Formats: sequence, C-alpha cells, structure tokens
Amino acid sequence: MKFNPEKCKIDDERMKPFIDADEIWGHITNATPTKKRVEEIINKSLNKQRLTLAETATLVSADDPEMIEQIKMGAKKLKDTIYGNRIVLFAPLYIGNKCTNNCSYCGFRASNKDAIRKTLSDEEIQSEVAALEDNGQKRLILVYGEHPDYGADYIAHTVKTVYDVKKGKGEIRRVNINAAPLEIEGYKKVKDAGIGTYQIFQETYHPEVYKEYHLGGKKRDYANRLIALDKAQEAGIDDVGIGALFGLYDWRFEVLSLVRHANHMEACYNVGPHTISFPRITEASTIGMNDRYIVNDEEFTRIIAILRLAVPYTGLILTARESEHVRREVMEYGVSQIDGGTKLEIGSYTDQSLNEDQNLNKEQFKINDNRSLNEIIDELLDRDFLPSFCTACYRLGRTGEHFMEFSVPGFIKRYCAPNAILTLSEYLVDYATPDVQEKGWRVIEENLKELAAKHKHVRVDEIRNRIERIKQGERDLYF
Ligand code: SAM
Ligand code: SF4
Repeated sequence: MKFNPEKCKIDDERMKPFIDADEIWGHITNATPTKKRVEEIINKSLNKQRLTLAETATLVSADDPEMIEQIKMGAKKLKDTIYGNRIVLFAPLYIGNKCTNNCSYCGFRASNKDAIRKTLSDEEIQSEVAALEDNGQKRLILVYGEHPDYGADYIAHTVKTVYDVKKGKGEIRRVNINAAPLEIEGYKKVKDAGIGTYQIFQETYHPEVYKEYHLGGKKRDYANRLIALDKAQEAGIDDVGIGALFGLYDWRFEVLSLVRHANHMEACYNVGPHTISFPRITEASTIGMNDRYIVNDEEFTRIIAILRLAVPYTGLILTARESEHVRREVMEYGVSQIDGGTKLEIGSYTDQSLNEDQNLNKEQFKINDNRSLNEIIDELLDRDFLPSFCTACYRLGRTGEHFMEFSVPGFIKRYCAPNAILTLSEYLVDYATPDVQEKGWRVIEENLKELAAKHKHVRVDEIRNRIERIKQGERDLYF
C-alpha cells in the first residue's frame, strides 16, 4: 500500500513528527498508575484493542510490585487465551561481517581492527544451509553488516542461493532478512527473491542519544534509519520487523517509541509491523559499555509483558542473546518466536571448530543460550509448548498473519495449530532423537484431543490423515 499522508494525518495527529522525544517523555512523566487504571488498560488489551501511548506510559511507569504482577498476569492471560501454546522456531545465518559503520556497541564496527572479516562464498552458504537443514531448520534470518558488498543484488542472490539448497528431505521455506536500509528499488529486488520479513532495528529511538552511539558511516543518519521500513512498504514489502537494542537508553522511552513506530505503520499502511524484536545489549569484546541503562532481568520481563499488551497482534521475537533461564521465564508472557541451535560465528554451522577456536562471535556479541535445536524442542515439549516451523501464511499470500491470528475468530485453531502440528510431525520423523520423538507425539496427541473436544469446526481427522501421509514420506502439507 502506498504512503498515505492524508490518512496518517487523519488517523493520528501526532504522526508529525513521527518520533517526538519530548512528547514521549511527556507521556511518561504525566502517567499516574493506579491498580484500577492498570486493570482497565489490561482489560482494553484483552478486549483486542491496542493501547495508546498514554496507556502504555501508564504501564511502563507502574513500579509497584502488585501492579507489575497485574501486568505480567495480564500478558500471560492474553497469550494463553489468544495465541495458545505455539512457539515458532528459526535460526540466524550470518552471511558477512564487513561493515562501514561504527556502532559503538557492536563487534562488527569498522573501527574494530581485531574482528576477522569474512563473507561466505556461495559454496559456503550452501554448506551452512545444508547443515541447518540437517538439524531440521525451516526458517532462517540472514544477517549482514552494512557494506557496499552487501547491496540489494547481493542480498537477493544470497536469498535465492539459500532457497535452492535441498538436502535430503530438508528445505528452507522462509528467509527473513536483517540488513542495512535499502532504497525502494533495492527492496523490490529482495522482495522478488521471495523474502519473508525485512527487519531493521532503530537501536535507540532517541535522536540525540542515537548520535552518541553511531559514530560513523551511513547508519549515523537517524532519520534515514527511522524511515527505512517506510521505503520497504513503498516497495511492496508489507512484512517488516522493528526493534530496539535495550541498554542504550531508558527502556521506558524505547517501549513507547516502539509502540509509536507500530502506530505509524498501521496508520500509513493499514498494517502494523509483523514483528518486534527487543535484543538486550550483551557483552562485546573491547567495548566498555556504560551500564547506566542496562536492563535487568526483572525489567526485561516487564518490557515483554507490556509490549504484549500494547501491540497485541504483533509477533514478539526473543533471541539466544538471552540465557536459557531468562528465555524460560519470559516466554510465558507472549513471545511468539525464538531461535534454536544458534551459532553466530560466520561459517560455524558447518565448521564446529570455529565455535571453540577462532570465536569470531566474541567480536560481535555473546549468545547466552547455546543449546541445540533438538534440546530446545525437548524443553518446549516438556513445558507443553507446541514447537512450530509453520510458513503457510506467507506462502499462501496470507500476509498480516499475526493480525489474522488475533482478529479472525477461530483462525489459530483452524490454521496455526494444525500447521504447527504438521511441521512438528515432519521434524519428529526426520530429525528428532528417540526421546524427543516420544514426547513430541505425546504433545501432538494431547493437542489433537483438545482440538477435537473444544473446537468442533477443526477437521481433526484431516490433520491425522496428513500426519499419516507425513509418516509415509510426504512433506510440506499445510492448511
Ligand atoms: N548491520 C545491520 C544493522 O545494523 O542493521 C544488521 C546486522 S546487526 C549485527 C543486527 C542487530 O544486532 C543490530 O540491529 C543490533 O540491534 C544487534 N546488536 C549489535 N550489537 C549488539 C550487542 N553488542 N548486543 C546485542 N545485540 C547487538
Ligand atoms: Fe555494522 Fe550493524 Fe554492527 Fe552497526 S550493528 S557495526 S551496522 S553490523
């Protein structure tokens, strides 16, 4: 959908300017949270309405332990009643770490002369993808530094290279991108290569603070980054992911800004961001990060719960930057996607020795959850989550799937849950260890029984029939 300034203006007068730091601070300073008010706001969200900036400000300002608990329980209820127990799994694949920018928090910054620069060759991409397919991955996010070598043509080429790799019964069905902003023509090229989501994080939404961390290169231009995903929309990519790097500035400001960004997208393009990411800064070698704004685990949990309530129909992505222990807790509050079996060293899905020896990873940032995909799935099953590799909506042209999940009655039970069951069945047959297989079939059976008992419109017999077909060797069956 084309940019529509009139609509922006009509729907939301505050759209101009799109991020106004004083306005956001004004909301936070004026917020007067009480238990009653917090309850009203949570109820609004449970009634499937997204929150205003002022309402979100009330939630971020609620410091009283009882109110914090109310917020967490509200988010949990929203997650349980609307989204259920599915968790979508993906893996990142770092294509190249050359970079002309100087983001002071990132090990790939140009001034870090210790970083070993590497770009995967086509053959190396193929072997990395084959290794990922051998683990059972179906969804990847490709990550690139910002460098003239990684222009739109190159990104499109790498996307096609990934899709072409078919190892055994494996294939990658959805390739998302985390890369530098492109121009409209460039976005069109990567869209034509068949990407899913294009992610760009603003890092910090505060314009002045932004300058302090971005010391050189194109990324120094705050405004250019802020409108980067508008250009993607103009190019026809209506599936975009926003994010903030928590730890650079006050988390409350960033949460409100993410909500503002989501509102902006919705007002201008009739579709909010597909996903929100909230990476927390992790220790990066040779970086003495100021810890003034470091977000502790308790605050991190609140951030996720508040985002779940504020933008109830947007996917929330949690990554392996977080430890096993933190991931376990915050998933309860509405995370919809996590990575599994993540390795950040370039080339390390194929070459295990890179994880121990060269450890390029130290130069970018640390990951804190090193478990294999099988181990992650094992734990999800133990906790009655339903691991999913579903890619159906995007391949059927059902974009805006999170919105449909949220707003179309019965959508999750009719499509998402059956597709989660079918993609998990594929994983169990092709890649799982015997004990994970056993747990997986048990969880599938429990989910099928629940669907049959409570959702008469769901064709459970047809799901069972398709599971049998998967056991017989058919693949990629979806609703
Ligand atoms: N170069 C592209 C860019 O900057 O948008 C994409 C790749 S960059 C590695 C992807 C994201 O990693 C950044 O947007 C930033 O949020 C995150 N990141 C960078 N340094 C980090 C650190 N020390 N800890 C956690 N996340 C970090
Ligand atoms: Fe380069 Fe991205 Fe790292 Fe900044 S965050 S130094 S742009 S790779």
